[in-house]
Amino acid sequence: MKIRSPIVSVLGHVDHGKTTLLDYIRGSTIAAKEAGGITQHIGATEIPNDTIENICGDFISKLAIKDLIPGLFFIDTPGHAAFTSLRKRGGALADLAVLILDVNDGFKPQTYEALNILKMYRTPFIVVANKIDRLFGWEVHEGASFRETFSNQAKSVQQDLDNKIYEIVGELHKEGFQSERFDRVSNFASQISIIPISARTGEGVIEVLAMLLGLAQEYLTEQLEIDENAPAKGTVLEIKEETGLGVTLDAIIYDGVLRTNDEIALMLSSEDVLVTKIRSILRPLPLEEMRDSKKKFRKLDEVVAAAGIKVAAPHLDDVVSGSPLRVLSEDTDVEQEILNEIDNITIDTEDEGIL
Ligand code: GDP
Repeated sequence: MKIRSPIVSVLGHVDHGKTTLLDYIRGSTIAAKEAGGITQHIGATEIPNDTIENICGDFISKLAIKDLIPGLFFIDTPGHAAFTSLRKRGGALADLAVLILDVNDGFKPQTYEALNILKMYRTPFIVVANKIDRLFGWEVHEGASFRETFSNQAKSVQQDLDNKIYEIVGELHKEGFQSERFDRVSNFASQISIIPISARTGEGVIEVLAMLLGLAQEYLTEQLEIDENAPAKGTVLEIKEETGLGVTLDAIIYDGVLRTNDEIALMLSSEDVLVTKIRSILRPLPLEEMRDSKKKFRKLDEVVAAAGIKVAAPHLDDVVSGSPLRVLSEDTDVEQEILNEIDNITIDTEDEGIL
């Protein structure tokens, strides 16, 4: 048994800052060179625990976060066209979510929609109130914790932010959630934490990472326990033509192990089940190596969850984004499992994405 990193998804209304937040997190972790840096997956970025500790410094030791959770696994394709069909699955795929709001703009249609998805799948989440640097009179402290930057703001600016936070608390209340600014939360199991941040200046991002790690450790360790030898389970992100490889699929593996030559079951657009055999499993090459090579990918014999990978296999053309991916095993009727899952999936390709 191993504990894997929680899969974290950032959701929110368009332009409220999903991409900027993910970019900031990636950038600041790349900058934290002494630690393990980041691991680039297909469609995801994994930030190891030691890197997070390095970025968060003293803050994390104060929270008494132990080393149980290996890191945070961020799905990094918000707004991706192919990802939009996954919107109903987005909440299910994630173990934890970050609901992002523009603090000056408040709740918007896609914010409510994201909330409904989180409700439906009972995904634990935090709310980030983004773009605090745009509050009138805000004094920027690049990369500072929220606590530090907040304590250095004028009283009127602090008051203005608090008023906006209370509007968010009110909206969340109408939606059936108790919430509070994170540093005033008394019970993390029953109250949603609201963390004010600026994804542009990085203010408050420390607390976002620390909070996600803390919540995962406190409430998710059981769910994150995986059997490293069990047949893999995953979700397809998208189907893609790659030069030299033909039609491939990108998938997030959230349980078990996936090996070359494994037989996998997938869902087709006709809602039939496809069984095919893995020809190769691919990962992005590390950036340094990519510069010296025409190749983009490295072949792997096997991957253990959590992993974002590309799979080359015959007959993938009609597989749908959002399809479950299951390795066939003697013990379970995988095809039946897939058919049962299909019944629960709503593929919704019409709308703009919130993921
Ligand atoms: P997404 O559609 O949710 O992925 O939003 P983006 O990350 O693309 O952000 C939309 C716009 O808001 C971009 O122009 C960003 O530069 C800007 N933006 C995002 N976060 C912040 C922030 O914290 N402060 C400021 N001032 N602008 C931001």
